[in-house]
Amino acid sequence: MKRHNFSAGPCILPKEVMLKASEAILDFDNGLSLIEISHRSKPFVDVMEKARALALELLGLEGKGYKALFLQGGASTQFLMVALNLLEKRAGYLNTGTWADKAIQEARIYDDVYEVASSKDANFNFIPKGYDIPTDYDYFHCTSNNTIFGTQMKSFPDCDIPMVCDMSSDIFSRKLDFTKFDLIYAGAQKNMGPAGTTLVVVREDILGKVSRKIPSIMDYKVHIGKSSMFNTPPVFAVYTSMLTMEWLKNLGGIPAIEKENNKKAQLIYSEIDLNPLFKGYAMKEDRSKMNATFNLTNEDLKETFETMLDEEGINGLNGHRSVGGYRASMYNAMPLDSVGVLVDIMSELERKA
Ligand code: PLP
Repeated sequence: MKRHNFSAGPCILPKEVMLKASEAILDFDNGLSLIEISHRSKPFVDVMEKARALALELLGLEGKGYKALFLQGGASTQFLMVALNLLEKRAGYLNTGTWADKAIQEARIYDDVYEVASSKDANFNFIPKGYDIPTDYDYFHCTSNNTIFGTQMKSFPDCDIPMVCDMSSDIFSRKLDFTKFDLIYAGAQKNMGPAGTTLVVVREDILGKVSRKIPSIMDYKVHIGKSSMFNTPPVFAVYTSMLTMEWLKNLGGIPAIEKENNKKAQLIYSEIDLNPLFKGYAMKEDRSKMNATFNLTNEDLKETFETMLDEEGINGLNGHRSVGGYRASMYNAMPLDSVGVLVDIMSELERKA
């Protein structure tokens, strides 16, 4: 039976990428495996350099003062690394969900953090708007897509201070003016590759301004100085991410994948809105094109619906425990056909009920 993976992560990748990545485990360099050759050998250094260059190219940031790094420790490590490297006195955070909240808690260890706005009281079902960002803060931090609650920032404030964005769950999924951001980070495991590496794209000129001593492995400048090879990099995750970025480039880059993502989102949200058995969780204007969150309006149908999902090979549709209901995660590699299968089940449920 064909299976359709709607899981929020990790990770959904194009089949051709999976195939190439698995071949490299057996034979990457004349019979040697990708995971056994030296990370300092030319074949792997070339991979790292290509991955770094592709990330900047896809985001339209080459030659604009940015550096790309592939680090370890997940996006969660970036919550504290951002603060260690940029927070001198005070920073402003937009609290739009669990991950933003965690980023705030970590930054507070180092200094003063102010929430410019929050949707916590509404269990994060919308993105706050119309807030002020004080110009004397060190930086402003936001989360572009809230994986758990299914909301997504459709626009970003004009910011006079450095803007930092956690793009873990929608990196490379839609066109944005990426020059608006001074630091972008994203765990690989949604739109890039297996868990184990985190993309950081940073404008070099915002670094080196804090007075604290930064441990080397936490210092972006050290990683830049070592061309993202300060210590042994997660070679498989970086290689697979490079393959996914190549796949995306050959497809036509972010503009091409955005068209596909729009079709998938349109398909699922029109079903949620037309079918009286379902109700969307997030406010319509803030709906995520990566993670669609919804509930059944009649809980008595739960068992029937979930049996139908199982029978058609739908995997990973359960909502996060803090929201309940269902979450259809539709990352870049999710085919439109799979969303079609899910939508057919939803309308079949309405016919049956
Ligand atoms: N930020 C966002 C938006 C996420 O979706 C996640 C994980 O799903 C994280 C941060 C945490 O990432 P990691 O598990 O790589 O630390």
